[in-house]
Amino acid sequence: MRFKRQRGTQDVLPEQAVRWQWVERRMRSTLQSYGYGEIRTPLFEETQLFVRSVGSATDIVQKEMYTFEDRKGRSLTLRPEGTAAVVRAYLENHLGREAGARRLYYYGPMYRYDRPQAGRYREFFQVGAEAIGSPEPAQDVEIIDLMMTMLRDLGLDELQVEVNSVGHPECRRAYESVLTAALEREQSELCATCQGRIPSNPLRVFDCKNERCMAVAARLPVLRGHLCADCERHHASVLRGLGQLRIPHRENPYIVRGLDYYTRTAFEVHYPQLGAQSALGGGGRYDGLVEACGGPATPGVGFSAGIERVLYALEQTQTERPARDTTAAVWVLPLGDATRVDALQLARELRTHAHTTVDLSGRSLKAQLRGVDRSGARVAVILGDDELASGEVMVRDLRVGEQQRVPRRDAVDAVTALLSTPEGGA
Ligand code: AMP
Repeated sequence: MRFKRQRGTQDVLPEQAVRWQWVERRMRSTLQSYGYGEIRTPLFEETQLFVRSVGSATDIVQKEMYTFEDRKGRSLTLRPEGTAAVVRAYLENHLGREAGARRLYYYGPMYRYDRPQAGRYREFFQVGAEAIGSPEPAQDVEIIDLMMTMLRDLGLDELQVEVNSVGHPECRRAYESVLTAALEREQSELCATCQGRIPSNPLRVFDCKNERCMAVAARLPVLRGHLCADCERHHASVLRGLGQLRIPHRENPYIVRGLDYYTRTAFEVHYPQLGAQSALGGGGRYDGLVEACGGPATPGVGFSAGIERVLYALEQTQTERPARDTTAAVWVLPLGDATRVDALQLARELRTHAHTTVDLSGRSLKAQLRGVDRSGARVAVILGDDELASGEVMVRDLRVGEQQRVPRRDAVDAVTALLSTPEGGA
C-alpha cells in the first residue's frame, strides 16, 4: 500500500524549497521595512467567522471550504484566506487600542476545495498585509505601493495594477437595482451559476470566467457611474496618489468584491506574461468588516498575493535567483567504521565556516567521491584509517581534483583556505 499526496497539494522538495525560502525572506524584509509586523493565526477557525467575513454568497463559502466537526461537534474550517482571522485576532487581542492604523502581515497556507488546474491548488500559500484603522485614501495607496514594491523587489517588472471603486453599501444598493434589472433582461445568456446569483449577489457576474457571461458583463452598466460624492472623491485621491508615486495602473470597472463589507477601493495586480491566470493577487478596502466580525466600526484595507503564482511568474523571467544553496560546500568522507564519529566531530568544527555534510552511507571512497562531485560541493575531507592513525586527513579540492595530506589539527584551516580561493583555481 503506497500513500499519495492529496489532489491539489504539493510536496516542495529541497531544491524548490530554496526558492520558496528566498521569496519568503525578501517579502518579509519588504513588509517589515514598511512597518508591518507579522501576525500568526491558527490554520483553523470557527466556521461562522468565514461565513460572516468572506460572505455566505461567495464561491469560497458555498463550495470551497474545508469544513469539519471536531470531537465535540463544533464546526471548524481550515482558513480559506487570511483577512478574517487577522480581524478576529485584532479584536480578540485588542490591537485597536493603539492610536493610528495597526499594520499587520501574514504568510502561510490557505485551503480551498477548488478544482485543481494550472496555478490552482487546494492548499496554497498567501502573503498578505492589512492596515486596520485608517479611512484615508493614502492608506489604500500605501497598501498598493507595498504590494508592488514587494513584488518588484523579487525582480518582477512590468506589473500592472487594475483598480476600481465598489463604493459603499449605499451607492451599491442603488447600483444593484439597475444591475439586477439589466441582468434579468439577459438572463437566458448567463450560465446557471450566474442566473442563481442575480437575486443574491449580482455583482459576482463580473467575476465569472464563462465566455458568454463575460460577453454579457461587457454590456452591463458599471458601478463607477453610481458612486456618491464621497466615494468618488476617495477614488480620485487613490488614483492621484498612484500617479504621484508612479505606480503603473489602469482603471478596471469590472473588478468587484461583491460583499457588503468591502468598500471603495478594489484592486488586482497582474503580471500580463502569465496569460489567463495573470493575477498575482489583489485586495481592497473593507470598512465594514471589523464591525461584521463583532467589533466597533473600524476602517481597513489590505492585499493578499499567491506564492505559487509569484514563483511561477519568476520562472518566466530571467531574474537572478539562487539555483540551490542547500548544497553542502564541504563533504566529510569517512572510510571505515572507526572514522565515522571522528568525521562527525570534524564536521562540527567545519560548520562554523561552511555548510558541511558527512557521508554516512558506508560506501567505497570511489562511490562517495562520485556522489560528492555531482553535489556541486567545493571541498571534500577524506578520513581514512591509515591517515587518522598518523594524525592526518586528506583535503581534496573538488574543482580541480587535487588533494593534499594535512595534519588533522590543520584540517579546518586548509579547508577554509580552499573555500576562500576564488572559483576557477588558486
Ligand atoms: P483571492 O484571495 O481569491 O483574492 O486570491 C488572491 C491570490 O491568491 C490570487 O491572485 C492567487 O495568486 C492566489 N490564489 C487564490 N486561490 C488560489 C488557489 N486555489 N491556488 C493557488 N493560488 C491561489
